[in-house]
Amino acid sequence: MHRCTGAQHVEPAQTDNMTNMPTASAPSFALTEDQVQLRDWVHDFAATVVRPAAADWDEREETPWPILQQAAKIGLYSFEFLHTSFGDETGLTMPLVNEELFWGDAGIGLSVFGTHLASAAIFANGSPEQMLEWIPRCFGTPDEIRLGAFAITEPDAGSDVGSLRTRARRDGDDWLINGTKCFITNGGIADVHVVVATVDPDLGHGGHATFVIDKGTRGLSQGAKHKKLGIRASHTAEVVLENVRVPMEHLLGGHDKLESRMARAAERLKRNSAIDTGDEKGHSGALRTLELSRPTVGAQAIGIARAAYEYALEYATTRTQFGHPIITNQAISFLLADMATEIEAARMLCWHAAWMGRNEQQFDKAQGSMAKLKAGEVANWVTDQAISICGGWGYVRDLPVQRWHRDAKIYTLFEGTREMQRRVIARAISNGASELQ
Ligand SMILES: Cc1cc2nc3c(=O)[nH]c(=O)nc-3n(C[C@H](O)[C@H](O)[C@H](O)COP(=O)(O)OP(=O)(O)OC[C@H]3O[C@@H](n4cnc5c(N)ncnc54)[C@H](O)[C@@H]3O)c2cc1C
Repeated sequence: MHRCTGAQHVEPAQTDNMTNMPTASAPSFALTEDQVQLRDWVHDFAATVVRPAAADWDEREETPWPILQQAAKIGLYSFEFLHTSFGDETGLTMPLVNEELFWGDAGIGLSVFGTHLASAAIFANGSPEQMLEWIPRCFGTPDEIRLGAFAITEPDAGSDVGSLRTRARRDGDDWLINGTKCFITNGGIADVHVVVATVDPDLGHGGHATFVIDKGTRGLSQGAKHKKLGIRASHTAEVVLENVRVPMEHLLGGHDKLESRMARAAERLKRNSAIDTGDEKGHSGALRTLELSRPTVGAQAIGIARAAYEYALEYATTRTQFGHPIITNQAISFLLADMATEIEAARMLCWHAAWMGRNEQQFDKAQGSMAKLKAGEVANWVTDQAISICGGWGYVRDLPVQRWHRDAKIYTLFEGTREMQRRVIARAISNGASELQ
């Protein structure tokens, strides 16, 4: 099967005269030897372990524990792997490995990397001590695998996360948490739940607090498991919190940080006499965190798109109609040309945004959101076209293209819907002039 792996070289990077190193304003997308090896290592796992099991786990709609175990055994599912990937100064490692794994299968990919959501939330909100304690606990060991879940979405607070109802109240030295979360990846089966709750609903985002909650904590339970269109190997469920009691140390960032953030939000509220929508300057940190993670999510979508494109290309060269392979029809070959072009374009946006994040560049046009938006749209379009190229066979479940199309859809929904991405971009390019409704 033809492979359309990451670009090897794009542009000679500008270099610093003294060090001959790429300057911060000139990314180089020429992969290093280490990156090529890492990409090929993940690709091998995706091709030999993940892809062959994908249809089965999609039908079973269960967490693929044996594959998680294999990923942990080789070190792909581990705190150390996450740590090393984040350490890469080019920023390309996370997009690279995500594209490869999700090329294998997106549902299994999310089962393996879903814990990264919880780790990222701990990283963004926790103190150094809390990071060191809780992030490794999200992964466990190859002999005792653990999972993490990040829970912010609620039945009445999806895109509008400022209107959370899950409530956290002080009770002596503890916190008591009550509410219901929905659509939570690894929800209820995770060993560590990172839960966002509101301490003061009047303050919108400014009144939010993030807690780590251990599995087995009284009052924490799984609600309904959601039956989904795609990424079915990834567990998605409601999480119910009934008088969940956690000690003060489980508040990420600590009490003082929460108090001062709430005081700033109250001050802003007094000045603007409006709820803090989360788009205020004071929340640029939270917005930046989202911009940082979106290129990696986009890379997952590119992995799906590439899988479908490669399959369609192979199919078009071997399927004969009217005495010729269907690729000899310009209608088909041009379509494949467009599919390849769109994938390359989306990948470049993701890599560029990932590089920007790692090199402290300002996301002045919300380039992280642009990358995820484009990649999600490309994945949906490419997988749709792949079904068309495979004709009726593309529609039946014997072939994987229909699964890729079902999987791709989530990339217009989670981690910010396509509309919310456009809203963020519109606001960035109009310098805030775009109306927020
Ligand atoms: C499989 C899956 C896994 C998920 N995993 C997690 C997880 O691990 N943790 C977690 O916390 N959440 C998770 N989510 C939740 C996901 O992030 C939300 O579904 C998403 O944010 C959208 O929220 P919503 O579903 O309530 O849609 P809504 O916010 O109700 O949106 C409905 C529609 O209205 C549009 N819309 C809303 N407001 C505006 C506006 N101002 N302008 C224009 N259009 C607007 C939206 O774009 C969308 O098209 C997951 C969801 C799914 C399906």
